[in-house]
Amino acid sequence: MQDQLDIGFRIPGTPERVNCVNYFISKFKEINSNFTYLLHNYTIDIIACQNILFKLNENYSNIVILGAHYDSRAKATKDPIIADRNNPVPGGNDGASGCAVLIELAKVLYTERVNLSCQIWFLFFDAEDQGKDNAYGIDEWDWCEGSQRFVSDINNFYNYEKENFECMILLDMVGGENLQFINEQYSTSSLLDELFAIGRDLGYTYQFPSNPESASIIDDHRAFLGERIPSADLIINFWNNPDWPYHHTTEDDLSHISSTSLEITGKTVEQFIYNNYFNDPDNLYHGNYPWSQDINLPNTEVIIIVIILVAIFGIAVSMHFFAKKSSENKSNLAII
Ligand SMILES: [Zn+2]
Repeated sequence: MQDQLDIGFRIPGTPERVNCVNYFISKFKEINSNFTYLLHNYTIDIIACQNILFKLNENYSNIVILGAHYDSRAKATKDPIIADRNNPVPGGNDGASGCAVLIELAKVLYTERVNLSCQIWFLFFDAEDQGKDNAYGIDEWDWCEGSQRFVSDINNFYNYEKENFECMILLDMVGGENLQFINEQYSTSSLLDELFAIGRDLGYTYQFPSNPESASIIDDHRAFLGERIPSADLIINFWNNPDWPYHHTTEDDLSHISSTSLEITGKTVEQFIYNNYFNDPDNLYHGNYPWSQDINLPNTEVIIIVIILVAIFGIAVSMHFFAKKSSENKSNLAII
């Protein structure tokens, strides 16, 4: 995350925006120098924009899309200091957080790739965050321009006769302090429910509350829903949240980011992939969703540890018993 903020403000049409794409490419090349990527170029109101897509496991025809926007908002239209509202948003949580989690997920899922029975897309959107608000907005621009353009060109990015989409998971504002996800209403409810169940099962009951706030958010997942792809938005309350009040302000910087929040988001999505697409039947991660939603069953690791402890205890008891037996036999012999 630090790297993305060090690049500067990733505003559409700026050199920093280009540098950010080059940064993503360098991070994926670190994972594998041959990591497949495709650039999606388009213009909005004469400004050159670019989405970037990285593909893992292209040998599988069923595709899971993991997405985040990487642009940062050009004006801090909600800043409490009116004079600062013309300044850009650093985009720590609103932009960089989701992208940072995607990069970490790419690292870990790459190491597990031979065990996974799906193709995974890591998709970074430009031009999400320049919509109109408090009299600012780039003229003629809407929110989520990047994802809308991507979906309208999606046939250029896959073989629609052979490949199909499983689902799309969007990560937006996933790295702030006091992370708590909402029940986003446009999201495919079964998919979002599954992510919540997994998060809670991993112990993240604050972040995935049993009674989450509900709201409908215009975000990058909506374009995919329009393509009938089940989609879910992992996002927080950003409009009236005293626990994270930095949305579209100049304070959305690293000082209000929590590495724990980033990790919790990443581990939940990672577990979602394992639960649904891990090949190895001996895999300890492999859940059988729907599991333990209502009852708190111990997880597989705990059961295995208990079985081992019971076995060790059993062996110890029987060894003690046999040792006692043989010493009794010896004493009997002595009597004889
Ligand atoms: Zn935003």
